[in-house]
Amino acid sequence: MTDLSYLDGNMLDGPLREVFAVDLSATTGRCDTCGMTGPMAGLHVYSHAPGLVGRCPACSGVM
Ligand SMILES: [Zn+2]
Repeated sequence: MTDLSYLDGNMLDGPLREVFAVDLSATTGRCDTCGMTGPMAGLHVYSHAPGLVGRCPACSGVM
């Protein structure tokens, strides 16, 4: 991936609030590609994709 213009996972708070009634910003997830675990706020979010795409900060796998 050559374009490194991403936002941190905290920017997902607003869009996810439209779908979920609970705050998911502190939720821990696990990457299926590399197995890294971490908070959703640590994801790299690409907003110039179709919609918002959250990627693992370690391997860039789509979460
Ligand atoms: Zn990963």
